[in-house]
Amino acid sequence: MQVFKFGGTSVGTPQRMKDVCNLITADGKPKIVVLSAMSGTTNSLVEAAEYLKIGNPEAAGNVINGLRRKYREHIPALYATEEMQVETRELLDNIFLELHDCRALKFSDAVEKDVLSKGEIMSTNMVTNYLRECGIKACLLHALDFMRKAKNGEPDMLYIREHINALLEEHAGYDIYITQGFICRNFDGEVDNLERGGSDYTATLVGAAIRSDEVQIWTDIDGMHNNDPRFVEGTTPVRQLNFEESAELAYFGAKILHPTCIQPARYMGVPVRLKNTMDPAAPGTIINNDMEPGTIKAVAAKDNITAIKIVSSRMLLASGFLCKIFSIFDRYKTSIDMIATSEVGVSLTIDNTSRLAAIVERLKKIGTVQVDNNMCIICVVGDLRSENTGFETVATEALRDVPLRMISYGGSNHNISFLVSMDDKKAALEALQKTLFGTK
Ligand code: ADP
Ligand code: ASP
Ligand code: MG
Repeated sequence: MQVFKFGGTSVGTPQRMKDVCNLITADGKPKIVVLSAMSGTTNSLVEAAEYLKIGNPEAAGNVINGLRRKYREHIPALYATEEMQVETRELLDNIFLELHDCRALKFSDAVEKDVLSKGEIMSTNMVTNYLRECGIKACLLHALDFMRKAKNGEPDMLYIREHINALLEEHAGYDIYITQGFICRNFDGEVDNLERGGSDYTATLVGAAIRSDEVQIWTDIDGMHNNDPRFVEGTTPVRQLNFEESAELAYFGAKILHPTCIQPARYMGVPVRLKNTMDPAAPGTIINNDMEPGTIKAVAAKDNITAIKIVSSRMLLASGFLCKIFSIFDRYKTSIDMIATSEVGVSLTIDNTSRLAAIVERLKKIGTVQVDNNMCIICVVGDLRSENTGFETVATEALRDVPLRMISYGGSNHNISFLVSMDDKKAALEALQKTLFGTK
């Protein structure tokens, strides 16, 4: 069975929801369809939760009421029959009542996650009801019944596999199974989520759990482009990517994919196809095990990076120096992205700065510490095996006018990364576009 995922823009209006329903029923084959919240909804829910956090339930109430008004308008636009309009209005009203009830609760992580979960719960109920109104046998599988994190905070693959397969068996014979992206439960059974943009991750976790033939991620652009279209003009779609290449691009900032969503698909060998809901005939991008030799595929950028340099004369010939440094980062559960070493020092980067002060305090016992904020990792991805001579030179030469704080090459066969200031990001992306892909 195939798994299709549609993002927020793809289900952003009643008409788009109808288009999605036409798309998923066109070939008559059963499929699991993972949906995001309607575009803008999760942002509004985040805003409401922020008001709750600072103790302003009235402002949270205004945001919730604004959303409720929008959703009420969607109902007559989506359903033809009075019966389905009444049923769906009641369902949505109950969800908005639950949101209002959250205002009386003491704010906690659990309350915040509960608030954020409502967008996907609404969109999936709306689409399921529309399909039913159209006479399609549609079944809503609740993600909270099978999507769960393990104790370490990562998706619990065994649990997910066991529970989704049991649910599919229990509800056999439907044409379409709809489920919520993004939302899950934590190890304690509370409502949780897979981080912003996490519906892609739901789709590949489901695809891996049911050993799907293919996971299709439908969005608002014709596949993975060779550079970030939000910053560079003239980007073009890449038609094929290796799992490793796409994982690097996703992790290093290609927003079209959630940072870790390729992992489950790669692990189970399930191909992922990126498609454009606004132009379904466009070929999109296929992600699989194939490798196009000797080709640079794309460039991505990861923002809000902090660089830390530790210089110590004691490093010279000292064994255990790196181990001491890494154990400090490990102790504060902060993962390192890039690293460069020299005889007297180490430079590394992190993107989670929540424990930075404590980390720096400890590092200062080892050497002199310099911290640079507002940096950005620019990542060039393709077949960058060392025998493919010259590619790293071309990339570095393209950036000759950009101050480079760090370079990392050889950590994988697919990536060369440059650390630059955020101020230089656009210029760096444009220079690479021009040199690597021949367009400005
Ligand atoms: P969805 O809501 O469907 O999940 P997203 O907004 O998360 O969609 O992802 C699609 C967007 O990702 C595109 O509209 C585009 O602006 C952005 N994007 C960033 N980098 C790339 C890239 N390399 N290729 C394609 N899209 C990209
Ligand atoms: N609705 C969530 C978000 O906006 C998840 C997703 O769209 O993938 O982040
Ligand atoms: Mg997304």
